[in-house]
Amino acid sequence: MMPNRPCWVEINTRALQDNYRLVRSLAGSETECMAVIKADAYGHGLQLCAPALVAAGARWLGVTSAEEGATARGVCPTARILVMGGLFSGQAPAVIAQRLVPSVWDRWQLSELEAAAQQAHLGPGALPVHLEIDTGMSRQGVALDHLPAILSHFTSGSPLRIEAVMTHLYASDEANSADTAVQIERLEQALTCIGAVHPAAAPQPEWLSVGASAALLGGEAGELAALAVRWNLRPMLRIGLALYGVTPRFQPPFETGNEPANLLRARNQLRPVLTWKSSVSSVRSIPAGSEIGYNGTFTAGEPMRVALVPAGYADGLDRHLSNNFSLVVRGHRAPLVGRVSMDQCVLDVTEIEGVEPGDEVVILGSQGGECISAYEHADATGSIPWEVFTRIGPRVLRIAV
Ligand SMILES: *Cc1c(COP(=O)(O)O)cnc(C)c1O
Repeated sequence: MMPNRPCWVEINTRALQDNYRLVRSLAGSETECMAVIKADAYGHGLQLCAPALVAAGARWLGVTSAEEGATARGVCPTARILVMGGLFSGQAPAVIAQRLVPSVWDRWQLSELEAAAQQAHLGPGALPVHLEIDTGMSRQGVALDHLPAILSHFTSGSPLRIEAVMTHLYASDEANSADTAVQIERLEQALTCIGAVHPAAAPQPEWLSVGASAALLGGEAGELAALAVRWNLRPMLRIGLALYGVTPRFQPPFETGNEPANLLRARNQLRPVLTWKSSVSSVRSIPAGSEIGYNGTFTAGEPMRVALVPAGYADGLDRHLSNNFSLVVRGHRAPLVGRVSMDQCVLDVTEIEGVEPGDEVVILGSQGGECISAYEHADATGSIPWEVFTRIGPRVLRIAV
């Protein structure tokens, strides 16, 4: 078989599984932890990650879309799969066929699901949905004043059943956020409304699905669990970033000594899952005065040795890293010199002994004692780890190690 162009990602599925088990233990036994694998498992590769998470005990998976749900269903025949991005028009039959659970908030979504359920001869309550409440993000979810109209769909004879009431916190990475308090208050108003309007004869919601990694690690998980129990619901968190070994940052940061116990444990025990690698394809010596890359944004002030690496912005290596970042080769940092090209970049290896074609280059992850974190990439480009991971392009092979 022909070897690939050397630009690939290694996925440590055991680290992913350890992270899932750690997350579960931090959440406590009462709280269900959905493993969020949207956007191709945060760029880590859904087909590698989803079965590993299920093997580690994940019962629930969260995906973006019905098409991602169908991919997840192909490798995880028994998992419950939530389509977090909502139902798109025309997808209801596929949602039913693949046994996906859509998050819903608009009446047209419910109408399409009702029609598809009728076509599929589903009995009362046979089609679970997660009803999303807009508690302040103005993105997805039903606003409080539209909630009664939405609830009118869930009659006792309807094929639809509210399995979970969910909302998304938009500021749980802000310590003691007043925004979160307001969101929780609105969520309680929604629960009050559901309690008053939802027919007693219809199946009752089972889950209260609120909070992501930051809520778990920032100390809100206990409060959310208590809220669920007060409403006779079971608490569910939807965990993404932490599974992939990254501890979210809090703004402002907690003071040392004042950090929530879960945050400390996560910081010490979460393990990185992804290592993005390439290798040196060519090395050259250039005289002083040589320019490097498009527009000659770097000029050699003295004779240099430079290494060509087949990774560029089409692979997800952000062009803003040009002249502004370094990668690891032979256990040392080598500055990125000149502009990152579409398919290539150039490293200054003048100071690194013996670099030659075939040497492994680490773009994100560890080699020897050197480590490049997703946050380091993010900070260099004004981004966040979520984007750094999901930007790694589809042509970069994901390999389980
Ligand atoms: C992405 C996402 C999550 C997971 O968030 P993390 O911060 O990565 O843990 C949870 N809920 C919803 C609705 C999401 O879109």
